[in-house]
Amino acid sequence: MLRETGGTEGGTVGNLVCAICGAVMKALEHDRDLYSICAAHRQGPDARDGRPEPIPRLVIWELTSSVVTPSPEARVSFPSGDLADLVLDQIAALQTAAIVFGVSPEALPPSLELLVSRARRQGLHVTLALHPPAPIPVPTLRRLRSAGVERVGVRLDAPIPMRLGARAAEGIVVGAIRTVRDEGIPLQLHTQLTPDTLRLLPALGAQIGEFGPVLWSVAFPVLTQGAGETMTASALEHALVWLYLFAAKAAFAIQVCEAPQYRRIVAEMRRGAGAWPALSDGNGLCVISAGGEVLAGPALPLVAGSLREQPLSAIYREAPLFRELRDRARLEGKCGRCEFRHICGGSRARAYAVTGNHLAEDPTCLYDPLSPHDREGRGWRPGHKHPR
Ligand code: SF4
Repeated sequence: MLRETGGTEGGTVGNLVCAICGAVMKALEHDRDLYSICAAHRQGPDARDGRPEPIPRLVIWELTSSVVTPSPEARVSFPSGDLADLVLDQIAALQTAAIVFGVSPEALPPSLELLVSRARRQGLHVTLALHPPAPIPVPTLRRLRSAGVERVGVRLDAPIPMRLGARAAEGIVVGAIRTVRDEGIPLQLHTQLTPDTLRLLPALGAQIGEFGPVLWSVAFPVLTQGAGETMTASALEHALVWLYLFAAKAAFAIQVCEAPQYRRIVAEMRRGAGAWPALSDGNGLCVISAGGEVLAGPALPLVAGSLREQPLSAIYREAPLFRELRDRARLEGKCGRCEFRHICGGSRARAYAVTGNHLAEDPTCLYDPLSPHDREGRGWRPGHKHPR
């Protein structure tokens, strides 16, 4: 899944680009479809309990209140002047590699340019995530690029020709994508799947390729059931296998959210190669809400602390929520006894959404750690019948 940029040399198949920092790496054939994070930014021992100073490699800071609003306080506009500068200093001091500023194009914070330029001066890689997708004035975009924005993310949830009754919205999405591309800014596309749109993944993947992003971030549904919708473990498994095969041929990086089973599938497919953990909630990743509250992930609505009261380092390293999420020995159910728990661990957001317990087993995983089939190490392979 590392984005190939072409060229072969001495046993490598090309240059690959880290999804976080954009670092170019040489890759061996078996690395082609592995996770899109370079060794420097890969979450290694932090994923296992016991490392004294875990690092949030990626911080998502929602600057407008439309996305992460865990409590009424979060609706208060947080970043302003010295306080915002202080938080950026804290993030940089943690050796964080990258920051995503989540903004609504219709309510861009006046301090955004200053925040971006300060983040860049601190050595952070900066992405701007637009939600909802809406036209962003070209002069504004140019100023933000000059300030240091390296990528812009636009949300595309379904193949545009297949969406019914949403022509205006489609035009807005395409307009936002075109504006970013026309300005020469690397584009990220973000897809939030629903149980209904899982089946549209192949069509969506083909369309994503036409837009030419550097990264496609695919988020799987957290709630397995909704209004007449269900995401079964089997449907998730097949979608992830499709993504794995698609990623091997894609000209862009792919990031999988709320489906850490992808790591298990990669390890199974590659017989252990690439068996390292991805960033996950509280494990290399944290979210700052518009109100200054710190969460472990964008889909896990549990507040670990507030930046109005504690520095980020104290919350990320010491808050019980973060410590629990990093301690794979605390996982319950089959996730707790699964041999893949250190690279997967299940979606903590889905476990919480379904059971109210963020340490419970991921209710949408097909894998059974105790089955004789798996104990013998003969997990599913392409061309084999999938265990049900
Ligand atoms: S049982 Fe849990 S840890 Fe194991 S692969 Fe499934 S979700 Fe991951």
